[in-house]
This record gives sequence, structure tokens and C-alpha cells, in this order.
Amino acid sequence: MREKIPAPVLALLRRLHRAGFEAYPVGGCVRDIWRGVPPHDWDIAVSALPQQVEALFADCRVIETGLRHGTVTVLAGGYPVEITSFRGESGYTDGRRPDSVQFGVSLQQDLARRDFTIGAVAWDVQNDCLIDPYGGQQDWQARLLRAVGNPERRFAEDGLRVLRGLRFAATLGLTVEPATAAALRRCAPMLRRIAPERVREELEKLLCGEYAAPVLREYIGTVGVVLPELLPMVGFAQRNPHHNRDVWEHTLAVLQNVPAERTLRWAALLHDVAKPQCCTVDEKGIRHFYGHQAAGAGVAEKLLRRLRCETRLVDDVTELIRIHDIRFEATEAMAVRWAGRWGERRFLQFLALRRADTLGQAAPEQAQPYYEAMIAHLAAAREKHACFTLRELAVNGEDLLALGCRGKAVGQTLEALLHAVQEGRLPNQKAALLASLQTKAAAAGESDGFCKPL
Ligand code: ATP
Ligand code: MG
Repeated sequence: MREKIPAPVLALLRRLHRAGFEAYPVGGCVRDIWRGVPPHDWDIAVSALPQQVEALFADCRVIETGLRHGTVTVLAGGYPVEITSFRGESGYTDGRRPDSVQFGVSLQQDLARRDFTIGAVAWDVQNDCLIDPYGGQQDWQARLLRAVGNPERRFAEDGLRVLRGLRFAATLGLTVEPATAAALRRCAPMLRRIAPERVREELEKLLCGEYAAPVLREYIGTVGVVLPELLPMVGFAQRNPHHNRDVWEHTLAVLQNVPAERTLRWAALLHDVAKPQCCTVDEKGIRHFYGHQAAGAGVAEKLLRRLRCETRLVDDVTELIRIHDIRFEATEAMAVRWAGRWGERRFLQFLALRRADTLGQAAPEQAQPYYEAMIAHLAAAREKHACFTLRELAVNGEDLLALGCRGKAVGQTLEALLHAVQEGRLPNQKAALLASLQTKAAAAGESDGFCKPL
């Protein structure tokens, strides 16, 4: 296994060993090697105290972020390595962090404080063997998520572990061992004590997991503690010919079918969140959900702000929810028009969401052809140098001001030129665009005439 460790990380381990300390890769990086993927970061457990680690790496770039908890981050040849002193924890009165941590404990004690068996594993690089007191490797081979020790006690110590557990299940595709599963349900209220930023971080990893949908389905009661807005969707029948699933099952299908990227996953999760509250029934007994797009955007905005999501994400997600039901034919003119209105980035996100939304409805076979046609039209339009937004137009407001155009006419003229370019009536070239304006003015025989929309 040793050859799996990048040379700079190996050199760092050697330096700790030569200084007389024990040092072991632990947790996620060991698991990543079992999985056959390169670890995204390296966690090293070390017998040295944080100050000793700092002194030993005085010549390296050291980040002191977690010093109080015993973590020193060293950049080793581009790899961020988190070196954490062996520590024990005691007293968890607030349900989110230990009252005190003790350094100077053994590796065994350090592994005992860790939350799940698949993360409570250390790799003895010198002897090329595992130190695995809780059977983490066996659990990994069986794809089992199991708490270290008594699951309820462990989740009561730190409520975030509940969400970490669901996140590991959703990203790694694990089955949850029964006692751990029961505790994930019973200890759900512990999540109320956790800071919203930390909840968000774990939720986003969960949502982007390959197995997010089955985990959400199975643990909606637990997730509902932090996202109560989801609960009305569960089991809510649509009774509408376009739909063959209830709102929640449809939502899970959409979630699974958008790329694993947080804007799209949030938008998928919340796109129909207001359907239950907007439901009406017509005389034939068919359900309708008028206004659920705008109402859903409102619900999503509150929810995402509560979780302290950044403004750009909130804007992207709420806008996608607002527009998710807009329908237009797959033509190049439509690609030009809507990419022009929304910008290309949002247009592409819209198309990904539309594809997934259709895949989750009663006629899924339409999803892929529509998506592919629109992507091709967009590419063709881009190829022709059609510009999608005013920013890409070859003339700008200043050009028009220089021609004597004033006030509202500036914006109107720019819009008119953009349409002319998008419809292929004019090339997107400055000289041609300005010339077209002057021709107009001459034809109108007056000085402000040329600024009227074409
Ligand atoms: P990944 O890095 O892929 O997210 P990981 O297992 O390395 O997964 P980290 O969050 O990086 O998880 O934490 C490193 C290790 O520290 C974990 O494997 C776990 O043993 C321990 N750990 C982290 N957070 C907690 C916690 N809240 N309670 C108990 N142990 C924890
Ligand atoms: Mg890690």
C-alpha cells in the first residue's frame, strides 16, 4: 500500500518518524485508497503535540486553522495535510462539541473518539499494516456504516454525526447497520443544536452523493428536522395526467437525474416544494399547482438563507425554481432568445433541470431528445456569433451617446439592435450596426429618429 502515498506526504511522515513521533494516515484517506480513488486530502494522526508539529515544520507553509483542537495543516508539495495530535474528548454538555480535549493519549484512544468504524482506521506505514480496532475494513468490504461504540451515545455527544452518517451513506453507497440506523432516526432532534453552516456543509455533500435519493427517502424524518419544508411533499399525490409519482418521489427522481453539483441539486430538491400549498382541484378531480414556481422560489430563499448559503447560490436556485416550468419549442431562435434573457450559464442549468424534471414525469422519453436538440441549437447559435446578451453586442451605450442618442432611447435602441442581430437581420459588427442607425435617421429625416427601435 505504501506506494499509494504521494512522495511529499511520505516525506512528511518520515520527518515525524525520525523526530521520534508516531504518525499515521487516518480516516478518509485510508478509505479512499480502499476505494481506489486518490485521497482528496490527507489526515495524519500524530503523537506529537501541536506546538511540536509546528516547530518541526517551521520551514513549511503551515496553516494554524485548528490549532486549539490540535490540528496543524501543512502544505506538502501541493497536498494539504492535516496533522492532528492524538486526542481524547470528554463531556459533551451542548451536544455539538466536547467540553474538553486531552492531548497526550494513545492512538487507540484517539481512534475511539471517532464517529464511524470506516473512519476509525489508521495505517501504519512503517510496517505497512492497518490498525483497525473496530473492524472498519470489514465494514467497508460489506459496505456497512456502523458507529464506533454505542450509536445513540455517540450521536448525543455531537449531533452533527447524524448528518455525517447520512452523508457517508449517500456518497459511498453504504447500508446502515441496524442499531446505527435506529440511532440516526432517534437522535435526529440533536441536529437542532448544530450551527447552520455546518449543517449546510454536510447537507450539500449528502445532496451531491450518488446515493442521495435512497438516503433521503429512507431518512426523510431525520433530514426533515433541518429541512421541515420538505415534509409536506412526502406522499402528496399529484392526480394529474402529466405525473405518475407523488411530489416527493418525483422530486427524488429529478434529484437523481441532475448532475451532482450543488446549485442543481438544491434546485431539484426544492423545485416543487410549494406544490402542496398551491394545490387546487378542478371539477374533473384533476389537481393543479398554479403559482407553485414563484411560491417555491420564496420557500427556497428562506430555507437557503437560514442555512447561510451565499447570495449567488440563493439567486441561482430561486431563479431556476421560478423558471423551471417555462416551455418553448426546441429551435435555434428559442435558444437565442432564452440564453439572451437568462445568460448562457443559467440557460444550461435550466436545460439540465428540465431534462431531469421530464425524466421524472409520465413521458420520460421526451427528455433526452429535447435536451440534445436545445444544446445543439445553442452551440449552432454560438457558432454563428449570435450574441446572447447586450454585453456581447458590438455597440454599447457610449457609442449611442456619442451619436447624440439620449435617455430611454439608449436602452431601447440597444435592445432593438440585439434582436436584429439575434434574428440574423444585421451582423454583430460595430460599423454595420451604427450604419443601420444612421440610415434610419436619414430616412426619418430628424435627429432623434434614429434612436427609435428598429
Ligand atoms: P472525507 O474527508 O471524505 O469527508 P473523512 O472520514 O476523512 O471523510 P473528515 O470530516 O475529513 O472525514 O474527518 C476526518 C476523521 O475525523 C473522520 O474519519 C473521523 O474519524 C473523524 N471525525 C471528523 N469529524 C468527527 C466528528 N464530528 N465526530 C467524530 N469523529 C469525527
Ligand atoms: Mg478527510
